[in-house]
Amino acid sequence: MADILRNVAAVRQRIAAACRAAGRDPGAVRLVAVSKTFGPESILAAAAAGVTEFAESYLQEALAKLPAASGGGRIWHFVGPLQSNKTREVAERFDWVHGVDRLKVARRLSEQRPAGEPPLRVCVQVNISGEASKSGCAPDQAHALCLAVAALPRLELRGLMAIPAPAAADPRAPYRRLRALLGEIRRELPGLDTLSAGMSDDFEAAIAEGSTLVRVGTAIFGDRTMAP
Ligand SMILES: *Cc1c(COP(=O)(O)O)cnc(C)c1O
Repeated sequence: MADILRNVAAVRQRIAAACRAAGRDPGAVRLVAVSKTFGPESILAAAAAGVTEFAESYLQEALAKLPAASGGGRIWHFVGPLQSNKTREVAERFDWVHGVDRLKVARRLSEQRPAGEPPLRVCVQVNISGEASKSGCAPDQAHALCLAVAALPRLELRGLMAIPAPAAADPRAPYRRLRALLGEIRRELPGLDTLSAGMSDDFEAAIAEGSTLVRVGTAIFGDRTMAP
């Protein structure tokens, strides 16, 4: 657990350095710790290191550990693929959802968001590298999907999310495309303020292209040796 404390500090330094290099304010990039496959004790260790936002990808695993790991005003993001028959628990238990890529899922999340809670914050996921196997809407569908999602009453659309294919030659290229797409959509939806972009291995590239939220797992918690 001492590692987690050190790792969080190292990640914060990397974020600050990437922001400096890009001429950006380090406070403009939120750190979300992706805790999938790690238990509540790891989450609490990261929380003790000052992390306030956490993300999970596997719903059953998340629901099992949330009771022991939530509290403390921690903010929970769901970043996994979302099937439309699994939306209710996500709408009830999470604060943010990053993987919205179909209107059907968005409609269900809106209908199922409990009345006493603030609107569910969402990002539309874009398949920015055009990979056949990946989730995310096609880039040319993102604008229309954003307009439809923004109109749903119990959702608050905040921006775009992507998980690009590793691009050795120019790791910034997919993030540059994502940023340009957000810029176009913001002409009609100026309130969008979030680019959910960058993971352990590439968040510097994402920050250079305007990421406002990095999702970092391995660099904080270590290697994921097993699926839940
Ligand atoms: C697992 C995961 C991450 C974190 O990946 P690392 O490479 O471990 O930092 C980020 N985003 C999503 C959507 C994930 O599923």
